Amino acid sequence: MPDHRALLHHTADLAADFMDTLETRPVGAIATRDDMLEAFGGPLPARGEAPGEIVEHLARAADPGIVASAGPRYFGFVIGGSLPSAVAADWLATAWDQAPGAVTVSPATTRIEAVAGRWMTEILGLPSEAVTAFVTGASVGNLVGLAAARRHLLLRAGHDVEKHGLFGAPPLRVVVGAEGHSTLFKALAILGLGRERVELVEADAQGRIRPDRLPRLDDRTILCLQAGNVNSGAFDPFADIVPIARAASAWTHVDGAFGLWAAASPRHAHLLVGVDGADSWVTDGHKWLNVPYDCGMLICRHPATLRGAMAIEAAYLPEEAVAPKDLGPELSRRARAVPVWAVLRTLGRQGVAELVDRCCAHARRLAGGLETIGFTVHNQVVLNQIVATIGSTDFTDSVRRRVEADGIAWFGPTHWAGRPALRFSVSSWATTAEDIDATLDAVARAVAALRAEPASALPVAAG
Ligand SMILES: *Cc1c(COP(=O)(O)O)cnc(C)c1O
Repeated sequence: MPDHRALLHHTADLAADFMDTLETRPVGAIATRDDMLEAFGGPLPARGEAPGEIVEHLARAADPGIVASAGPRYFGFVIGGSLPSAVAADWLATAWDQAPGAVTVSPATTRIEAVAGRWMTEILGLPSEAVTAFVTGASVGNLVGLAAARRHLLLRAGHDVEKHGLFGAPPLRVVVGAEGHSTLFKALAILGLGRERVELVEADAQGRIRPDRLPRLDDRTILCLQAGNVNSGAFDPFADIVPIARAASAWTHVDGAFGLWAAASPRHAHLLVGVDGADSWVTDGHKWLNVPYDCGMLICRHPATLRGAMAIEAAYLPEEAVAPKDLGPELSRRARAVPVWAVLRTLGRQGVAELVDRCCAHARRLAGGLETIGFTVHNQVVLNQIVATIGSTDFTDSVRRRVEADGIAWFGPTHWAGRPALRFSVSSWATTAEDIDATLDAVARAVAALRAEPASALPVAAG
């Protein structure tokens, strides 16, 4: 028998060594792309090497090229870390090597998925009849939700799109807010609904759909709403819009990659009033729920429709009514709900609410501190997201680059209201108030140092 105990113990030590550095290591990567090419390039070996040596080499060679995005002072994009119980459960799922497509293949992991899905819909206040498909992330969640919408509307019009394709199908309308996420447009492109054929609805200064600009909806319309704008964290006004869509028999799809989790918090759930009236919802596990990557969920009110859109035809692995393989695009895949189950058990309903509330409180502290330093905060900080600038675009970007070089924190550039800005997202379970203060200190130092430099040292402001 191979000595997996020694190999996995050693690997666990290497992983723990890495995780122990997350609080103190420079947040950005140190290595350049060329360094990494050198570390991992070279010819394909003719003969294999010992597993222990390979893991050792991986850990050492990759380290300078690893971004501490799982650490407490990474505020880039909307990323989130991984709770320790989620990492551990994910390892176990890897060791089990189970594909949770059907009960006969893996009784344990299919059950774990069903329970994790039920707990999640309960925490999010979504209808109990809804089913959950565990997918790679919100990109695929959007794809699956829109496929269900396409089936629902076309079948009602007498066209079975899964059987016959879009050939000869009556046209559908797609209504999307002007601030819809790029992955939603990609999903529309893949599904033959067209990236550019959509009716864009004007958004307000926070990125929310303006209800007064909503076109007339009908029973051939897919309406795409958003819970959590990727920059501002703003929510579309569900209570104003969802009842209109329901009355028109349109399908409402909600992209809530991170924002949907606000429903778990009694303090923030008001942002989502009316969202439960939609037909499909997307969220990510790997962002705000803090499970490792490769975990998103599509929740659908209409199990039969979702199954019709995703089922493998014919009596392939005869099974109970709804097997996971018939709810999402994959037949074989990893048991990605296992860390979700572990996190929901680790935190409980209250712990998820506290995670959301804590990140939002840190975001308010960060926004307040930035304003004290001289930043303009451009959004209402209703959630965990901040959009800010200080002085000119060049000055703002110089501050970002200086903090990045300092290694204390990392936040990224974005575009807001037609101009470059900085975006901060507080999405990690690990972030503390001290991390926020250390970040603000680093930002203040960068601003002071740049102001102290002769003006000629700054790039000429482009306006
Ligand atoms: C991140 C994000 C997505 C895409 O999710 P992935 O998990 O990266 O596929 C979609 N919509 C919103 C609002 C997001 O923030």
